[in-house]
Amino acid sequence: MLRRFDWLRRCKTGTELLATLSYFSKDPSLADLNFGPTFSATKGPCLRCLIYAPVADGDKYRRYCKFCREILIRKRWWTLRSSWAVVIWGYVNHIPRRLQEFKPSRSIYGAYVHDRQHFLLSMHRQHLREWFQELALYDGLDLRGLIQIFPTLGQWRSLNMGDYLTWAVHHEAACSMDRLWVRFFTRHDYLINPKIEDRKGILTWTASEFLSLLEMTEAFRANIYQEDQKDLYELLILDDPTQEQFYWGRFLGRLSREAMDMLSAWKIRAWPKERVKLLYKLINYVILP
Ligand SMILES: [Zn+2]
Ligand SMILES: [Zn+2]
Repeated sequence: MLRRFDWLRRCKTGTELLATLSYFSKDPSLADLNFGPTFSATKGPCLRCLIYAPVADGDKYRRYCKFCREILIRKRWWTLRSSWAVVIWGYVNHIPRRLQEFKPSRSIYGAYVHDRQHFLLSMHRQHLREWFQELALYDGLDLRGLIQIFPTLGQWRSLNMGDYLTWAVHHEAACSMDRLWVRFFTRHDYLINPKIEDRKGILTWTASEFLSLLEMTEAFRANIYQEDQKDLYELLILDDPTQEQFYWGRFLGRLSREAMDMLSAWKIRAWPKERVKLLYKLINYVILP
């Protein structure tokens, strides 16, 4: 029969994955995963899993088994939330303390502990900073391994959400177990061949580097108006250094003292362009402090 991880890997969309993960987290009685008999030759299998027999009572889900019906009903609630959710696959030396006694909350949607070294988690992307802070607090330097973060998949494409999860498992041993590493994927397709992103130097971080990236982004979001953020982006991506000099002076004149000090302390003008792009992507992953 299907185990929990099989159900998770069979999810087509991020919405289905979130629904399944939260269902597993909320209902411990699911432990036995007994969803009735497998299908019989005469009635045919559930349309989603193709394994169990449909429940076959009058409603619109009558062609689905007990489990798939539950996922399809719950899925609707996750539709809105899936666009700001991230999924985390962890391969670590031990399961983080906070996950050992896990309860779903507003920021952490669901968790699944696969074995003593693997876990899957879904959460609101703007709570990543908080989560990493807690990891540092509760597990600190004890915790080692690799945490891969990737977005959920909206619509169905050629690969489904479960396939991306499988790619994450495939690359889980890419880093050494000597400390805690983070790989931050802004898109799912990067999971297939992480080397391309890694060469740009914006994929793999130590956990503390990643945490400070998030903290920097928070400060950036808080200190610089959205309009100025846009203009700054144009400036930093600009290729003509003489022009840059001219516009840079004018731009700084518009900023607050704090913002100016922050940008010069960061030496942001010397950042590689890929790093600048990452900062701007991360803006969606933090809240205003
Ligand atoms: Zn089914
Ligand atoms: Zn493994």
